[in-house]
Amino acid sequence: MYPRNFEYVAVESIDEAVEALSSSEFAKVMSGGMSLIPMMKLRLLSPETVVDIGRVGGLDQITDNGDHVSIGGLVRHRDIAVSELVPQALRQAASWTGDPQVRNRGTTCGAVAHADLAADQTAAVLALGATMVVQGPSGTREVLADDWFVDTMTSALEPDEILTEIRIPQRAGGTAYDKLGRRGGHTDYAVAGVAAWVAKDNGSISDCRIALTGVGSKPTLASGAVEALIGTDGSESAIADAAARATEDVTVLEDLYGSEEYKAHLAGVYVKRAVTQALAAAG
Ligand SMILES: Cc1cc2nc3c(=O)[nH]c(=O)nc-3n(C[C@H](O)[C@H](O)[C@H](O)COP(=O)(O)OP(=O)(O)OC[C@H]3O[C@@H](n4cnc5c(N)ncnc54)[C@H](O)[C@@H]3O)c2cc1C
Repeated sequence: MYPRNFEYVAVESIDEAVEALSSSEFAKVMSGGMSLIPMMKLRLLSPETVVDIGRVGGLDQITDNGDHVSIGGLVRHRDIAVSELVPQALRQAASWTGDPQVRNRGTTCGAVAHADLAADQTAAVLALGATMVVQGPSGTREVLADDWFVDTMTSALEPDEILTEIRIPQRAGGTAYDKLGRRGGHTDYAVAGVAAWVAKDNGSISDCRIALTGVGSKPTLASGAVEALIGTDGSESAIADAAARATEDVTVLEDLYGSEEYKAHLAGVYVKRAVTQALAAAG
């Protein structure tokens, strides 16, 4: 199907993009177009104006800034998947995002702005405690990952704002992401996926963040599972306790890929897998 008619604006700076967004009744930013274009072709979304930021310079870098790694607005999934600067959880999530064509065009900021309930990198960004940097008509603001995901395909972004950077704190510890994809294995969106960051001190778990995707209406922190782990030695029984509390903080939703019971079961299975891998990486 063809999309409805729209005005196409290719900008060369973020200021220009913000101006274009502000002066249209209904405008959408396009970065990789991997989710926007299919939605427009299916007529699930019919913006009056598409603001293409693909030509804006300087947004395609991954930078080590000491206490955090900065991911520019146009860094693509394929670059995240192989970057030594990016924690394993996000690298893994990017490498399992779609197929090579999608990874060659799609951007991590695009995926995080899009906030699909079953996306991969959203869970990693949440578990890693990232900060989103957003530019709009009144300047720049920062939004913590904990406050970013509002609902299905709804983030804290205002319609005239652009996500220009994701900052990932550089912290000690190990990270991991694991999922069951809709087409089995790790292929396609997550039926259920879990990202984990685990820090250890003197043999016990001193801090931890665990995020679920594909299970509820948005990526969600599994606070019950975290509570079960902190202060323990990360033994099999501690991980089993955490897995049993995987969905305490989320309303599990049935969809075409599984019942509530199945998804809750998978969340537990993948909490166990992601935490075990993160602990092994933490050393
Ligand atoms: C065949 C196929 C398979 C896929 N499989 C997976 C999968 O397995 N796992 C997965 O997680 N995802 C999957 N995706 C989605 C893919 O990850 C997209 O690339 C990603 O969701 C959007 O990134 P994008 O840069 O293409 O954004 P776009 O498509 O350009 O934009 C998506 C949305 O985000 C907004 N947006 C984009 N960038 C910004 C920005 N910088 N600031 C503000 N708003 C912005 C747009 O306005 C739009 O609403 C798949 C997509 C396809 C087509």
